[in-house]
Amino acid sequence: MNLDLKAALKEGIEADRVTGEKLKQILTSGPRHITKGLQDWNYEDGLFLYKGLIYVPNNENLKCKVTQMFHDNVMGHLGQWKTIELITWEYWWPGITEFVKAYIKGCAICQTTKIQPPVKVPIKPNEIPQGLWETITMDFITDLPTSKGYDSILTVVDRHSKAIILSPCNKNITAVETSQLLLDNIWKQTGFPLAIISDRGPQFAAQVTQ
Ligand SMILES: [Zn+2]
Repeated sequence: MNLDLKAALKEGIEADRVTGEKLKQILTSGPRHITKGLQDWNYEDGLFLYKGLIYVPNNENLKCKVTQMFHDNVMGHLGQWKTIELITWEYWWPGITEFVKAYIKGCAICQTTKIQPPVKVPIKPNEIPQGLWETITMDFITDLPTSKGYDSILTVVDRHSKAIILSPCNKNITAVETSQLLLDNIWKQTGFPLAIISDRGPQFAAQVTQ
């Protein structure tokens, strides 16, 4: 965990009404005397753990900081449930669901992207796709934690059905390698698309289809 965050959490816990009281109890009577109602709680190195999750004290700033850390990550601005899922791998506080919901509603970037989707450059004019897998969008999610030797994911979305196919890959994948990956994982099942919209630009998309 980030050291600044840890220090801020510790400080917040001392000022927190719920845990401030628990802390006093533990510090004055020692962990052996922890009574009923405290069995889900652990106190470790200045932090409270609730059922193994780091408790975020009742402090708007801290809750925002933790939420932002997960919501606005390398994969972009995640939705409510994904954000909550990621946070609760590590952190918890009472009312987390409502908090995250409100946070995302107030997130300026999420609100802007909703109104103005990112502009993509198609290799063909952006006509309305008619058939399945005729027009696909291709995006790379890069710089993820390495897993089985891969650090990125190629996402391919069919613009007609919105079906998504994900393929693990590496950040420095070339157009030729992408083409092979698409052939093996997607085009063998779906057939070749008529148009590709790529976040790496029309030139890359054109090379992939060569
Ligand atoms: Zn957002």
